Amino acid sequence: MGNRVIYLDHAATTYVKPEVFETMKPYFCEQFGNASSIYTLGRESKKAVEEAREKVARALGAQAREIYFTGSGSEADNWAIKGIASANKKKGNHIITSAIEHPAIMNSCKYLESEGFEVTYLPVDSDGVVSLEDLKKAVKDTTILISIMFANNEIGTIQHIKEIGAFAREKGIYFHTDAVQAIGNVAIDVEKMNIDLLSLSSHKFYGPKGVGALYVRKGVKISSFIHGGAQERGKRASTENLPGIIGLGKAIELAVENMDSYNTKLLDLREKTIEGLMAKVPYIRLNGHRTNRLPGNVNISFQYIEGESLLLMLDMIGVCGSSGSACSSGSLDPSHVLMAIGLPHEIAHGSLRLTFGEENTQEDVDFLLEEIPKIVSKLRDMSPLYEAIKNKK
Ligand SMILES: *Cc1c(COP(=O)(O)O)cnc(C)c1O
Repeated sequence: MGNRVIYLDHAATTYVKPEVFETMKPYFCEQFGNASSIYTLGRESKKAVEEAREKVARALGAQAREIYFTGSGSEADNWAIKGIASANKKKGNHIITSAIEHPAIMNSCKYLESEGFEVTYLPVDSDGVVSLEDLKKAVKDTTILISIMFANNEIGTIQHIKEIGAFAREKGIYFHTDAVQAIGNVAIDVEKMNIDLLSLSSHKFYGPKGVGALYVRKGVKISSFIHGGAQERGKRASTENLPGIIGLGKAIELAVENMDSYNTKLLDLREKTIEGLMAKVPYIRLNGHRTNRLPGNVNISFQYIEGESLLLMLDMIGVCGSSGSACSSGSLDPSHVLMAIGLPHEIAHGSLRLTFGEENTQEDVDFLLEEIPKIVSKLRDMSPLYEAIKNKK
């Protein structure tokens, strides 16, 4: 990574750890055999894929045969939603999800609505938390699936997954969670948490892009997603993405191994940033739960400025962050997540998300606390609205 870049967008993607890359390398040019082939070169590929599957299973408290590799987190989400809907439609056509899901869940649900399914989008409170009471009230005889994300990618709020899982189990309804942001940040045990399906994506925890996995509890009725050969036990055809899968396996192993020290470090950077900005900049608001949030997530709305302008100014000094606007570029609508926690449009538009990662340091935080207040004042000085407020005082 270049000297002068401070990368603070780990929720969007991470770099590949050198150790992960080293593990992947032989599987491009030398150990390239097709895992379905019966000669030694193929069998060795197969063995490496199964070892990676074991590693994913171990990280989740699952069994290896419950792990299916996919082409991304989005694919795992699509498969969970559409695959459960299609395999269980005789039982019912109702799905419950939340108003703050990733577009991969949201738009899969929208698609199913167009196909005659009924979807309840549970609201969240001002911290972004789904209420168990609301969930209980939303359940019908026709409910076949509850899908609630583990931790939110924009505001970092972590849900009461164990309680939701226990309730779903008691009702005999399948429970899926999009845990893409949670892996490596929160300890996960699919048994203790009564999770039936779980999505993850390698590039959010220092693995390569374009590879993910879906955990499907043994006995869960789900349709195949890609029809073709017999790969992934006939559920997801495609010649295996060998280097990708090997990389995912190594990355998840490291993520779980390093979770405690990683958390401690990120939490410290997060808290110093939040507290520093709160102390130095007036008219701001922290979005997401104050404590029950991802260790590296800071999401703040700055009144009287545009998040986009703030991002551009940060980019000029080498800081990579993200705005609270919809990630669908070109859209001027504020994010559905910030709307769901009740922010007015004009405040949502002034939002900034900074997500810390492994290579960030205390110096990065010092730099932010030095520069952001200056940028914010500069931008506010150009705002007629802010002028009016200042003059009133
Ligand atoms: C990034 C992300 C996804 C999508 O994963 P891809 O591998 O990029 O398709 C899904 N859900 C959440 C919460 C994410 O943060």
